[in-house]
Formats: sequence, C-alpha cells, structure tokens
Amino acid sequence: MSLTRPDLDALPAYVPGRSVPGAIKLASNEVPYGPLPGVVEAVTAAVAGVHRYPDMGVTELRARLADRLGVDSERVATGCGSVALFEHLFRVACLPGDEVVYAWRSFEAYPIIGATTAAKSVRVPNTGAHAHDLNAMADAITDRTRIVIVCNPNNPTGTAVRKAELDAFIDRVPANVIVALDEAYREFVTDPDVPDGLREYGDRPNVVVLRTLSKAWGLAGLRIGYLIGSPEVAAAVRKVVTPFSTSLAAQAAALAALDAEAEMRRRVDLVVAERTRVVEAVRKVYPDVPETQSNFFWLPLGDQSAEFAAAQERAGVIVRSFQGDGVRVTIGTPEENDAFLGAL
Ligand code: PMP
Repeated sequence: MSLTRPDLDALPAYVPGRSVPGAIKLASNEVPYGPLPGVVEAVTAAVAGVHRYPDMGVTELRARLADRLGVDSERVATGCGSVALFEHLFRVACLPGDEVVYAWRSFEAYPIIGATTAAKSVRVPNTGAHAHDLNAMADAITDRTRIVIVCNPNNPTGTAVRKAELDAFIDRVPANVIVALDEAYREFVTDPDVPDGLREYGDRPNVVVLRTLSKAWGLAGLRIGYLIGSPEVAAAVRKVVTPFSTSLAAQAAALAALDAEAEMRRRVDLVVAERTRVVEAVRKVYPDVPETQSNFFWLPLGDQSAEFAAAQERAGVIVRSFQGDGVRVTIGTPEENDAFLGAL
C-alpha cells in the first residue's frame, strides 16, 4: 500500500548540481562572483523585520521590474524562483488531460511539474544539433494543448532559437494556447538575432515570458523569479501563487540587485568571454559541442557521460551528467575553467 500516488515512482527526481566541499562547482549554472554589491546589506537590514510577513503583493519590486521592462506592473508576477512560476502557470492553464508541449531534452523541471499538475507532457525531440525543433513542436499542438514552452536558450544544451524561426512558430500557435518563453538565461545571450521575448512578442496576449534573478543577478539561494504575461494571465498566477512565497529577504535582495545592473553586466561579460575561450578549447577535443548562448555548454557524450563526470570529480571539478545523454558544464571563473580544461 502506498500513501502517495503510485505514478510518482516512475518520475525522475530533480537532480541538483552537487556541492562537494573543497571542489569546484560547475554544475548548477550559477555565476561565481558572489552576491552583487548592496545585496548583503539589504538582506541584513531586512532580516530585522522577519517576524512580520512580507508584502504579499510584492508591490515595490513588481513596480520596479515593470518600470525596467516597460510594462504595466499588473502584468508581472513573482515567485519562489521561476521554477515555481512554471508550476503556477501549469496550474492556471491545465485541467486533467490537457497537454503541455516542450522540447526534450530541456529543463528537467518541466516533466516533474507536468506530472504533478495533471498536465500531460508531450516531448518533442531536439534536432540533431541539440536545438528545439520548432516545426515539430508546432505540429505537436492539438486541441488539448494549453501551453507550449520554448526554453531560449535551452537548458541543458545551451542552444538558442532565432527570430525568424520563432516568429514563424509563434504565428502558428493558436491564440488559445500559451507560449511560455523560458528566458532564465536571457542575460547571457550575445547573438542579436536571438530575440528578447518580451520586446518582440510581449504584446501578444498568449505569450508569457519567465525570467529569474538566480543566474546573472546572483540570487539563486534566495529563490526569486518573475513572469510577464497579459494582465489576465499574470493575475491568475498571482491568485494561485503560494502565499508569501516571495520572501522578505528575496524582495529586499532583488531590489538591491536591480540597482547593481552595471556590475551584473560586467560579470556577465566576464562569463561570456570565458564561454568563448573554454568552448573553443573544448572543441579541440570534442568538436560536437553545440553553439551556446548561455552560461554553460553541452557535451553530447552519450554513454560516456557518467564516466566523464566521475573523471572530472576525481580532479576536483563537479559537472552535471545527464545519464546516457550528455554532460552540462557551467562557465566559472577563469581559474575554475582552467581546472576543468586541465582535467579534460
Ligand atoms: N528555467 C530554466 C531553463 C532553468 O535552467 C532554471 C534553473 N535551473 C529555471 C528556469 C528556474 O530557475 P529558478 O527557479 O532558480 O528561478
């Protein structure tokens, strides 16, 4: 007898990048340069008030994000990481039997969220170049489809879809289906042909853009992400969000981080420069590394993935192996990347 749903047994668990004391962690797509200036002070000051609940409406931060993005704050919802916002989005859009279409391999949280929110996952295999196959994804849309996710750039392969193909795809998606653009890694995009989803498609009522402060903005440990959708979709998400899940510390930290945009940019530029250097070096050994627009890259090693990760670990570097498929390596500091390349 089981006290929980038997179908959960078949569900792969979310595997976090491992933190091993003393080892270099290139496994969770974090930016390695510490909290942005002002964040520690803002959180420290906010902590004095933690006997009170935070502002449930997240008013100041939503206004600030809205202002930055040039949208009305009605269109913004925040949550406990953008991963939580995906869960809320599935819940507001899908009834039992409804379908969510996404690429595979992509972000490993999608199938977990799908399985526990009654949505049926429809996975569309990536192209041979490890990128979204947008034509096949559009073909996979049925009467039951409620959401189609485009992860741009894609985790874990790093690939990105360009404007012309995304234009054509979005034009093909029926108006009653949500296009969820997962832009967790937007800040690392350097190719001008990879569209800013909000700028290009934000005026379409069925487009929702999800972003996070975990990566470029250095707040992974405080858990805060945001979503921009139509006023109706954003209000629905705010209605079902776990109450107070954007914590007092997260709200204070986010406001401080947003004040440090120039420093965020400088750090992202360092990561991008390292990305070029490291991928170039890796391709001398593994020419099949796909192009990346993110702060990580993909090694399509198939069956050798686990052994590759184990060998790196013996050299003190933790990377993320996706069993039987590939290895994802986060860009770290120059010294950390040198340790990885040395072990390679
Ligand atoms: N989307 C993608 C593609 C991600 O890789 C991640 C983080 N691994 C997220 C969303 C969620 O990030 P967070 O919950 O930290 O905001």
